Amino acid sequence: MPENLELVEGWVVNARVVGRIAFLEVIDDLSLKPVTVVVKRDEVQDEVWKAATSIKLGSAVRIRGVKPERVVSRKGRELHARLLQVLAEPVDLLPIDPTGKTPANPEAYINYRYLALRLPRYRAIFLARSLLMNLTREYFYSRGFLEVNTPKIVGAGAEGGATLFVVEYFERKAYLSQSPQLYKQMLMCGVPRVFEITPYFRAEKFSTVRHLNESWGLDVEMGFINGPEDVMDVLDDYIRYVTRRINEELGSTLREQGFELLPPVEKIPRYTYREAVDILRGLGFNVRMGDDLDTQAEKALGEYMERQGVYAYFITEYPWEAKPFYIMKSEGGLSKSFDLDIRGIEVASGGQREHRYAELLGNMREKGLNVEDFSFYLEAFKYGMPPHGGFGLGLDRLLMTLLGLPNIREAVLFPRDRFRLVP
Ligand code: ATP
Ligand code: MG
Repeated sequence: MPENLELVEGWVVNARVVGRIAFLEVIDDLSLKPVTVVVKRDEVQDEVWKAATSIKLGSAVRIRGVKPERVVSRKGRELHARLLQVLAEPVDLLPIDPTGKTPANPEAYINYRYLALRLPRYRAIFLARSLLMNLTREYFYSRGFLEVNTPKIVGAGAEGGATLFVVEYFERKAYLSQSPQLYKQMLMCGVPRVFEITPYFRAEKFSTVRHLNESWGLDVEMGFINGPEDVMDVLDDYIRYVTRRINEELGSTLREQGFELLPPVEKIPRYTYREAVDILRGLGFNVRMGDDLDTQAEKALGEYMERQGVYAYFITEYPWEAKPFYIMKSEGGLSKSFDLDIRGIEVASGGQREHRYAELLGNMREKGLNVEDFSFYLEAFKYGMPPHGGFGLGLDRLLMTLLGLPNIREAVLFPRDRFRLVP
């Protein structure tokens, strides 16, 4: 070939023939919009023309051609083909319409996620997810946090037995980790700041739009803190960073696809649990002081906040009885804890931890835990454990609330819920 040819590799998502010209739309690389490949009868050899006019939608193709001097396609990218190779043809009917015109059964978008990824809506979601992961790493690296990886097969859970998946581990019983809580805290006796991007395995029989049995979280732990406010400051800054960068890099793309992308977040307001309960009572909710806020209450609070133009907010100082043993107590039965809610959905939980050995033992006994099961954890509190705190944040939940997705299953490639173990 004499000319300098451009290469396009991807899948044919639309095709039509008009007289002596064939138009193929090919979705390639990570763009949301296909390239329009123009095949002119007079510019190509017979076999290329034959392939172009008989191509099956969904085929994987490799095309070489020249970029026109003037692009006429409304989609913005165009290639005039010289060579066309069909690398693979579908051998069955496509379960998802590649043109996106005929909607498929909602389940099909999960069962055939790889085909959904040829559509702009799903490409956009997973581009945003990939960006979120990258920004998360970038943020914590640049602030001196060590990225760590802790075991996912464990001998004890952070929150007690009922919510753990059991694994056969040679002659013993083990569990899938529901959170890196215990390990990230132990690490505070050796390094000042850590973060981990990790799966959470939770065995509850959930049936909500915001729970999965396998979800991905961001766990952060920092030592030498002066109080839970230090941790909230970091989480606040992280949320501001990711919302700003996602808006900058994908804002117009995501809005074009119809997502109600969360605008960049400003300083996140902090309400105490007591204040939240008062607001909810004012809205007619019957919340007992001491109760965790249920889904309905969280949602109503979210709507109330949104009416004031607030999308993200902290709820602090929960009653200690509603929180796990490792959270530090404060006066009046309260705790040094916080939740971060976005659009009425809990996205993160955190707080200052109890770092004092004797107090920690007391907390465990009070929560009815078997202290022996946790001796490996308690050991780390004997050798100069500094005051520390951190949070666990659901990355699937964060993506869901950022994009305004109706269901967390849309934020995950291959979701795991009670009824779904394949694909
Ligand atoms: P919830 O009350 O919403 O069930 P939780 O308080 O039990 O959540 P945490 O133990 O605080 O969850 O976990 C930290 C974060 O991890 C949560 O704020 C949430 O964003 C995310 N998360 C926890 N469990 C799940 C789950 N089953 N599916 C998806 N995300 C989850
Ligand atoms: Mg929580």
